Amino acid sequence: MSEREHVRVAVIGSGFGGLGAAVRLRREGITDFVVLERAGSVGGTWRDNSYPGCACDVPSHLYSFSFAPNPRWPRNFSGQPHIRAYLEHVADTFGLRPHLRFHAEVEHARWDGDALRWEIETARGPLTADVLVSATGPLSDPKIPDVPGLATFPGKVFHSARWDHDYDLRGKRVAMIGTGASAIQIVPAIQPEVGRLSLFQRTPAWVLPRADRKITGLERWLHATVPATRAARRGILWGIRELQVSAFTKRPNELGLVEAVGRAHMRLAVKDPALRAKLTPDYRIGCKRILLSNSYYPALTKPNVDVIAAGLREVDGATLIGSDGSRTEADAIVFGTGFHVTDMPIAERVTGADGITLAERWKDGMESLRGGSADGFPNFLTLIGPNTGLGNSSMILMIESQLNYLADYLHQLDVLGGEIALDARPEAVAAWSDHMQRRMRRTVWTTGGCDSWYLDANGRNTTAWPGTTAEFRRETRRVDLAEYALLRPPAGRRTPAPAARTEEAAV
Ligand code: NAP
Repeated sequence: MSEREHVRVAVIGSGFGGLGAAVRLRREGITDFVVLERAGSVGGTWRDNSYPGCACDVPSHLYSFSFAPNPRWPRNFSGQPHIRAYLEHVADTFGLRPHLRFHAEVEHARWDGDALRWEIETARGPLTADVLVSATGPLSDPKIPDVPGLATFPGKVFHSARWDHDYDLRGKRVAMIGTGASAIQIVPAIQPEVGRLSLFQRTPAWVLPRADRKITGLERWLHATVPATRAARRGILWGIRELQVSAFTKRPNELGLVEAVGRAHMRLAVKDPALRAKLTPDYRIGCKRILLSNSYYPALTKPNVDVIAAGLREVDGATLIGSDGSRTEADAIVFGTGFHVTDMPIAERVTGADGITLAERWKDGMESLRGGSADGFPNFLTLIGPNTGLGNSSMILMIESQLNYLADYLHQLDVLGGEIALDARPEAVAAWSDHMQRRMRRTVWTTGGCDSWYLDANGRNTTAWPGTTAEFRRETRRVDLAEYALLRPPAGRRTPAPAARTEEAAV
């Protein structure tokens, strides 16, 4: 990047959110933008999570962009290599390569209220942008718990999202920490090859059968030649999930029926009542993310697997001490312990109009207007921001809704003319946040009797969206200017006008 490169829009991250934003910007005729990526390739969480067994448990025909259908998905629930390849394909097909800046980790972004633009420091040099879009996502920075004595462990340690493919697990004593969506995919994938697998289960998960199968050649041919079949498939997948929402958000008691399916699923695979007792959750299904697997329970019954119904409390050399006092020897520790979601590190690197960081703004909990704008952070939008997460459907639907909002945001800035910026009004942010918290009261995430990563340190659910994806689409269709303050530069200060929209057609 040159010394003083200026762009209309800078997007941080090149996962589904960042690439989706890039496609949408081009479709809006905007080509004056960059996508800043800390790694050397696109894909975000689908690049970083390459652990054995990694796949998405939202069907691929729904977990993909509406504007980039893929008739060739190999399975209902495609694996990480296919999803990553899909994102590479999107980058190629939609002409995004010229906009991508790899190894350009954003070190800091600061709002310049005089020039009405963002000053951005990256690992590849500085640039400025009229609008900053954070598409880093909530599942990008791995969380390893602060376990006393971990530094004394003489073996191998890594996180599920930073799998060390050079480390040979064959015959090793492996401790898997956690029983979330990542761990339950890893366990059956590595169990056949490791010597001993010790699973530290702090909280048992609800696990349902996974209706996975190959997509046949005939289906693929139909989807490629008759697009309506593809659309119908996606529509059905979407509709089923929309119908499930009210049970999560309004009538959690209805989920009791689903618990019966979960218990039967376990009974079929686990014959030992003592093991079943360990694995049976004591909270309402859906309170934590529901997990889908046909191979997790069977793997736990194998002779080389121990389920330790305790958290990892301490490490003493090669010995792992559970919160139940148990002691387990291991050669390797794999942390499937999730991500920094409600304390996302990018928030520490973005400084707004009042000189405070987004992390400081969010010190009492994340909040933003319609999942995107935070007051005091003008011309800044977060994709998959606060209260946009889904438990049962495709996040790509939410991202595409936010891209509608982003497109209208840029359109409004155009209409308003040159030297102007949009800053969410604090009262609008507070009203939206209160609305979210009110709706949260009846949800299974609040009433289900569990602790989960949906909740922040204060017990507030600042991550999940308490409604249907259709509702979110409606709420983000347009920018309501009444919810924003219009900022102008101080009198006498002139800044360059924003780059005009080009006529260049998108793909
Ligand atoms: P996660 O859901 O946050 O799970 C973290 C696990 O680590 C939990 O079981 C947690 O226990 C456990 N843990 C934390 N500290 C521990 C300790 N000291 N001792 C023992 N256990 C400890 O993380 P994740 O599995 O990586 O999944 C994160 C999200 O990524 C998912 O919810 C999902 O949205 C997404 N994901 C999706 C897929 C998919 O589509 N199949 C796959 C992977 C990830 P507690 O439950 O007691 O807190």
